[in-house]
Amino acid sequence: MSGLFPMSDRVRGLDARLAEFMDAQVLPAEAALAAWDEDPARRWTIPPLLEELKQRARDAGLWNLFLPGSGHGLSNLEYARLAERMGRSLIASEVFICSAPDTGNMEVLHQFATAEQQERWLAPLLAGEIRSAFAMTEPEVASSDATNIGLPIRREGGDFVLDGRKWWTTGAGDPRCRVLIVMGVTEPEAPAHKRQSMVLVPMDTPGIEVVRPLRVFGYDDAPHGHVELKFTGVRVPQANLLHTAGSGFEIAQARLGPGRIHHCMRLIGLAQRALEAMVLRAKTRVAFGVPLGQLGMAQEAIALSRCEIEQARLLTLQAADALDREGSKGARDLIGMIKIVAPRMACAVLDRAIQIHGAGGLSQDHFLAAAYAGARSLRLADGPDEVHMASLARGMLKG
Ligand SMILES: Cc1cc2nc3c(=O)[nH]c(=O)nc-3n(C[C@H](O)[C@H](O)[C@H](O)COP(=O)(O)OP(=O)(O)OC[C@H]3O[C@@H](n4cnc5c(N)ncnc54)[C@H](O)[C@@H]3O)c2cc1C
Repeated sequence: MSGLFPMSDRVRGLDARLAEFMDAQVLPAEAALAAWDEDPARRWTIPPLLEELKQRARDAGLWNLFLPGSGHGLSNLEYARLAERMGRSLIASEVFICSAPDTGNMEVLHQFATAEQQERWLAPLLAGEIRSAFAMTEPEVASSDATNIGLPIRREGGDFVLDGRKWWTTGAGDPRCRVLIVMGVTEPEAPAHKRQSMVLVPMDTPGIEVVRPLRVFGYDDAPHGHVELKFTGVRVPQANLLHTAGSGFEIAQARLGPGRIHHCMRLIGLAQRALEAMVLRAKTRVAFGVPLGQLGMAQEAIALSRCEIEQARLLTLQAADALDREGSKGARDLIGMIKIVAPRMACAVLDRAIQIHGAGGLSQDHFLAAAYAGARSLRLADGPDEVHMASLARGMLKG
């Protein structure tokens, strides 16, 4: 762990408690939760063990760690350390009510929702009673350019009426998902960045159809899923507008600052665990008469992984610190930089860990293959690498 951004005593204490909870309760539950998902009769249902773990985390006070200015009141820099700890397991952040997309959605509700909207949606999300999803990406348009988002939201009487398709809506397959934040066009005549708005749409509104779950390298991530949605005459009151009409682009930008840092810190935790697994395997697996660790290829894999993880960790902590001190705008370049660096680093480290584990590394017997699928997704989700590169480079070329 880097000494450049030392942990405060409070974060050190929380981190130690998280580590203990992770080792005693979360990591041992991974196999049982995976087995639940493998039973076709139980797919897309919630394992009771997950809800039990959430309750135990809540009883232990390890709950809602993420939201700056509420809950534990941690800064982004402080929370970054804890997100890294949780990132070691693909199931952990949900246990601690710190998982995407709910965290980003809660931040949006915290920042942009009215008191009534907060009471209806933010309170039960913070309590872990419901889940939510964020529907921006559309199959028909290049959605990395948010100005392309085109789902029409028209005004009719006192209502909004939504028609169209979304896809890759993470979490909308979850039976506990009660609300969608949907981005669509309410102001078709306005300039490109002022056309879209965000609207709160209860999941049980008539006219919403879950068309299908999408798979990432074969993983459907049940019971949360990444689904394609169809909206046919979906009607909600205009009071469900978030913030102001035409502010969809602005909200989308605001949502992604802390969210990107959280993803990156989790990836660092995941890569760190893969490195530890790699080291253990290299010490114990014997090939051609020697442990793999005595072979140059394993040593290079371990050494490079350690260097790359530490580089990414420092950059992410720097971005979190900049976000605390300078806000989303001031930290924009650093946030873009870690969004480019962390998923690539995690993919490289996980790939090496898979290689050292042999064919088993590709199988369900290790966490590595599922972790790789998740890390690879993050080279696209929350903005593809190239979009961040283009904006970083454009800024430099202008200067
Ligand atoms: C697992 C997963 C979960 C997701 N969850 C959600 C979610 O919950 N809600 C949601 O709304 N979306 C979600 N997404 C969608 C994701 O945000 C989009 O896929 C992403 O924004 C890219 O949009 P697109 O797929 O339409 O790619 P396109 O916009 O079609 O881009 C395709 C490619 O074009 C290239 N490109 C684009 N712009 C540039 C540029 N400026 N310079 C150079 N090259 C460029 C890039 O290589 C890019 O990958 C998720 C995606 C995945 C994989």
